[in-house]
Amino acid sequence: MAGADHVLARSFMARALRLAEQGKASTHPNPRVGCVIARDGVIVGEGFHRRAGEAHAEVLALRAAGGKAEGAEVYVTLEPCAHHGRTPPCVDALIAARPRRVWAAMQDPNPLVAGKGLDRLRAAGIEVEVGTLGEAAAALNRGFISRMSRGRPWVTLKLAASLDGRTAMASGESQWITGAAARADVHRLRGEAGAVLTSSATVLADDPRLSVRLDGDWRQPDRIVLDTHHRVPSTAKVWAEGARRLLLSSDAAAAAPPAGVEALTVAADASGQVDLHAAMDLLGRLEINEVLVECGPRLAGAFLQSGLTDEIVLYLAPSLLGHEAQPLAHLPGMVRLEQRVRLKPVDLRLIGEDIRVIAVLEKGEP
Ligand SMILES: [Zn+2]
Repeated sequence: MAGADHVLARSFMARALRLAEQGKASTHPNPRVGCVIARDGVIVGEGFHRRAGEAHAEVLALRAAGGKAEGAEVYVTLEPCAHHGRTPPCVDALIAARPRRVWAAMQDPNPLVAGKGLDRLRAAGIEVEVGTLGEAAAALNRGFISRMSRGRPWVTLKLAASLDGRTAMASGESQWITGAAARADVHRLRGEAGAVLTSSATVLADDPRLSVRLDGDWRQPDRIVLDTHHRVPSTAKVWAEGARRLLLSSDAAAAAPPAGVEALTVAADASGQVDLHAAMDLLGRLEINEVLVECGPRLAGAFLQSGLTDEIVLYLAPSLLGHEAQPLAHLPGMVRLEQRVRLKPVDLRLIGEDIRVIAVLEKGEP
């Protein structure tokens, strides 16, 4: 049975997680971290990490607590760092402040450092408790965890279709079939992912901006275009903004990219297209934690069949487009039921008049 300390710890850790969420659209490539310092059940300092290069959550909370941190309980959503990154290690600041105990929701997901920060706290005589609200903490940093443990970003595939799973008329005539609320929800997804990926086919057909157009302090996501043969013109709207603009091509001899766009060569797969596994490994090396894929049925199908897709977010508009309209995803070679893409729904709700389904891909042996 959980003691009173643990009940209190869950409540303060929940507060720390809410603080961490405030950095959701701005901390990348760093993890989202919140910290609460309490003494005798009262918060004496708190903070969250806002941006890479700026102070970590623990340092901000210690600063706010001042001398009151001595003998206090510290609640932090991720193991405090023990290495010199862009800022000095938080473990040193904690040891200097002499709290009684540090509660960490989870260990550092980097297998090379996991547990080392906690070990240093213990060695300094500070009690350590790990795992309070650990699942929620891991969900908040799924992208950072993915990059640390798998070397590639968390991949979310965004899809929109009619209720009968169709995306555009056979003629290619397509337009947003979902409503304004669903479109705003997509802008939020882009901002939180921090990077949006599409194909040259989508850029040439629809010329999307893939931007975040919401009130508030949103960073424009990185734009990544898979363009095997450099067909995307410099005037494409996708290049108009974005901290980083990356063109991934398998054709090293292709023409120079537009100004401000970084062209990177990726291995080709058997069909001559950019190899998606190599592309995701490259994004991992570029410190991209999460990527939102927005594309047409061909690339969507390739992502679904690649095993790289972690989650789909599917918006279903209350309309029917009929059997001649285009499907949601091309899944070549799929002829037997046992080959089907298996999904586990995790959320279902109405967004305006559209239905939003969030589902994770079932991994492993079918
Ligand atoms: Zn730190």
